[in-house]
Amino acid sequence: MTRVLIVGGGPAGMASAIALAQAGVDAEIVESSADWRPGGIGIALQSAPLRATKQLGLFDDLLRVGRPHHVIDMSAPDGTVFAELPQMNVNDPTDPPFLGMARESLHEVMVGAVARARVPVHLGVTVADLDEAADDVSVTLTNGLKDRFDYVVAADGANSAMRSLVLPDAPQPVFAGQVIWRAAASAPTGLERYTMMIGGPIRLGLVPLPDGGLYLWMLDSTLGPERPPRDELLEMFHQRLSRFGGHAPAVAAQLTDVSQVDFRALNWLIVPPPWHAGHVLLLGDAAHTTTPHVAYGAGLAIEDAVVLGELAATGIPFPQLAAQLAARRFDRARLVVETSLQLSRWEQEAGPPNPGAGRLIGETMASLAAPI
Ligand SMILES: Cc1cc2nc3c(=O)[nH]c(=O)nc-3n(C[C@H](O)[C@H](O)[C@H](O)COP(=O)(O)OP(=O)(O)OC[C@H]3O[C@@H](n4cnc5c(N)ncnc54)[C@H](O)[C@@H]3O)c2cc1C
Repeated sequence: MTRVLIVGGGPAGMASAIALAQAGVDAEIVESSADWRPGGIGIALQSAPLRATKQLGLFDDLLRVGRPHHVIDMSAPDGTVFAELPQMNVNDPTDPPFLGMARESLHEVMVGAVARARVPVHLGVTVADLDEAADDVSVTLTNGLKDRFDYVVAADGANSAMRSLVLPDAPQPVFAGQVIWRAAASAPTGLERYTMMIGGPIRLGLVPLPDGGLYLWMLDSTLGPERPPRDELLEMFHQRLSRFGGHAPAVAAQLTDVSQVDFRALNWLIVPPPWHAGHVLLLGDAAHTTTPHVAYGAGLAIEDAVVLGELAATGIPFPQLAAQLAARRFDRARLVVETSLQLSRWEQEAGPPNPGAGRLIGETMASLAAPI
C-alpha cells in the first residue's frame, strides 16, 4: 500500500488526507502546532470549491455550519447600497452559490472527516530531516521517529518550511501592498446580506454567519506590512471603521478590546512548476498563496486535494503524479492569484473604484466554473 506523509493540518493537509484515504492510500498528518486550531475568523467557500467538497464527502456538513449568500450588497460608506453582485452557482440549482462560516466550523468539519477516514494526526510534530532514496523518502520527525514514505505532501502553508527545504530557489511570498483587519461579532439586527462597503483606501466587509454571528474584514491600503504596536492597534482599527455608517457603528460598538482584533499583512505567491523535488510535493498555500479578494485560497487548496486523490487512485508513479498535478492546477491557481492581486492593486489606486473590477471578477468566476 502506498504510504504518504502530509506535513500541515490546515485545509490543504486535511483535504489531502481525506482524498488520499478515499483513494486507498495510507496517509498520516504531522501538524507543527500542538494546539490544532485554524488561523483567522471567518471564511467563505465559492461554488466551485463547494463542488470539490462534494467529492470529499464534506458538502452536507458544510451546509449545516455555513450561511448561504446569493448576493453581495456593494455599498457607499454611509451604507447606501449602489449595486448587488449575484454569486455564481456551478452546482445544483438549489445549492448555495457561496457559503460563509466560522473558520472553526470548517476546521471541525474537516477534523471530523479526517477522523472518520482513520488518518492518524500527530500534533506538535514536524519534519526534522529528509533522506531521499530512489523509490521513496526516509523522514525523521521532530519526535525522534524515523519512517519511510512513498512521498510527502507539503501542505504547511504560505511560509512553508518544506518548500524552503526541498525547493530553496522557489519564490517566497511577497507583500501585496494591503493589510487586513478582522474580527468576530454578532450581526446587528437587520443585517441579513453580505455587505461590502467601499470607503476610499479602506473596504469593509460585513459577513453574516449562522446563529447570528458576523465576520468583519477590513482591507486597508494605507499601511505597510509591519504590525502596529499593540497599544495603538485598537485605536487605529476604530479610526478606520469610523468612516463607515450603515450597520458598521453597531458592530464597532462590540469591539472594545484589542484581543478581538486580528491584523495581518497580505502576501501572494505562485510557485512555477515543478511543485515537487525528490519525493516531496507542494500543495495549497505552500504552492500558491493568494490575497483574499475573490475568497478562493482554501478553495484552491481543497481542489488541489481532490486532484491529488484522483491521480493517486490511478496508481501512477510519484514523479508522474506530481507533474500531472502541477500541470492540472497551475493555470487555475495563477488565475486566482493574479486576479486577486490585480483587484488589490486597483484598490490601492487613488480615486473611485476601478470600473474593470466587476468584469474581471465575473470573467474569473466564469473560468473557474470549468471542471478542475
Ligand atoms: C485574510 C484572509 C482571508 C481569507 N479568506 C478566504 C476565504 O474567504 N475563502 C477561501 O477559500 N480562502 C480564504 N483565504 C485563504 C485561506 O486561508 C488559505 O488559502 C488556506 O488556509 C490555505 O490552506 P493551507 O492548508 O494550504 O495552509 P494553512 O491554512 O496555512 O495551513 C497550514 C498548516 O500547516 C501547519 N504548519 C505550518 N508549518 C508547519 C510545519 N513546518 N510542519 C507541520 N505543520 C506546519 C500550520 O500550523 C497549519 O495548520 C484567506 C486568507 C487570508 C489571509
